[in-house]
Amino acid sequence: MGIVRKTKGVTTILKFFNQKGEATSVVHLIDLLKDKMNKTTVYRILDRLEHDGIIHSFNGKDGLKWYAKSIGCSADQHLDEHPHFQCTKCDKVECLPVEVKIPTIKNHKIDSTNILLLGKCEACSD
Ligand SMILES: [Zn+2]
Ligand SMILES: [Zn+2]
Repeated sequence: MGIVRKTKGVTTILKFFNQKGEATSVVHLIDLLKDKMNKTTVYRILDRLEHDGIIHSFNGKDGLKWYAKSIGCSADQHLDEHPHFQCTKCDKVECLPVEVKIPTIKNHKIDSTNILLLGKCEACSD
């Protein structure tokens, strides 16, 4: 497994995830970093960080790709079978620290899961 080279772009994106601690959509990230690097660079760095297990991705509503910092993952061990929650009102996305039991299906091999729960977050629920 390749160790992520600490280029300026990598450092910037890593710093962003470390500080923010919550999930971010690719679109938002590209917009945020548009003065610092181009779209292709952002995608390339995200790919690499995901490959190394530092961040993980999932699909939010509207099919947008989201990224969040991984907890307890490494390049050889992906422990990321947690569901995600997206608020339908403010669009905020959270990683849910709960375990979801993946059913075993006869004659099928499951490689990944993508569980998205939609609803209202704490701030929007009343
Ligand atoms: Zn909300
Ligand atoms: Zn997550």
